[in-house]
Amino acid sequence: MLLDPYMRKINYLRISVTDRCNLRCRYCMPEKGLPLTPHEEILTYEEILRIVRIFSSEGISKVRLTGGEPLVRRGIVDFVSWLSEIDEIKDLSLTTNGMLLKDFACDLKRAGLKRVNISLDTLIKEKFNRITRRNGYEQVWEGIREALKVNLTPIKINMVAIRGLNDDEIESFARLTFTLPLTVRYIEYMPSGHGEEWGEGEILTIPRIKNRLEKIGQLIPIPPDQWDGPARRFRLDGAIGEIGLIGPVSDHFCAHCNRLRLTPDGKIRTCLFSDEEIDVKQFLRNGGSDEDLRKQLLMALKTKPERHHINTHQFKKCQRNMSAIGG
Ligand code: SAM
Ligand code: SF4
Repeated sequence: MLLDPYMRKINYLRISVTDRCNLRCRYCMPEKGLPLTPHEEILTYEEILRIVRIFSSEGISKVRLTGGEPLVRRGIVDFVSWLSEIDEIKDLSLTTNGMLLKDFACDLKRAGLKRVNISLDTLIKEKFNRITRRNGYEQVWEGIREALKVNLTPIKINMVAIRGLNDDEIESFARLTFTLPLTVRYIEYMPSGHGEEWGEGEILTIPRIKNRLEKIGQLIPIPPDQWDGPARRFRLDGAIGEIGLIGPVSDHFCAHCNRLRLTPDGKIRTCLFSDEEIDVKQFLRNGGSDEDLRKQLLMALKTKPERHHINTHQFKKCQRNMSAIGG
């Protein structure tokens, strides 16, 4: 079992397989995109597999693929099938913007992917184009329907709630759970990376969102012993889907953090909001042994901070963009 200095059990690895993306969400990236990591600096699938094999033998049992947009990286389906052959990995999932999901869902399911999280911040087509700076609203919905059809479930829809942008849609997202077996998750906007500068005034906090949801119907809590991760889970009375509330800014979920991150260029990050990184690529590419890599993992664990410092005077925006960390 992997324990960090604060006795948190670490069993979850989020792998960002690329910093490339086919959208340009305003809160994540500038219109022109960001300088891209050269291909030769990006870990090969074989290199990532080696890391996952070593880490899983130490206690990592959950892996999520993210990006950038993971479905734009060539060979992703084969990669999923190789990962799914690692016995210790019990939960294999992927976070996507959904643009390519219609074409990939069936193959991903066959390759062994268990479930998907899909990012969607609006239910209004014109607003989707404005937020992502691309057309694709219907395409994403085709992807969601396909994912439901092939059972990549439970499907979570991630909505970053931003005041003045999509705060008028909190209720419409929640109502989706009455007719579709989806988990709608509201995520506070995080002050990170190179997206448009939203001031603190744009953050719509989880307590406010919860207040509004309580006006739609009774929010029935799902017992905390069934939570697994940062979301507080609820169900609206009579709904078939679920509600998840994720408040990195207003809530202190760090005490329950169970994760490490691997960046496309081979750095382990122990906290989304800290730029401290451990370079594992240098060991992979310079003849490092499995034991060397195992030591890097244990060293990374020792540096995992107790908490982030958003909302305190110590907070500094991190240098690496969300699209190169994976959210
Ligand atoms: N491209 C994929 C997607 O959008 O789902 C995966 C990568 S994206 C960086 C992962 C998640 O981070 C998405 O749900 C996105 O909405 C979220 N995200 C990006 N920038 C954010 C920010 N500043 N605050 C909160 N969430 C953010
Ligand atoms: Fe791309 Fe995801 Fe960032 Fe949007 S949030 S620009 S889809 S990486």
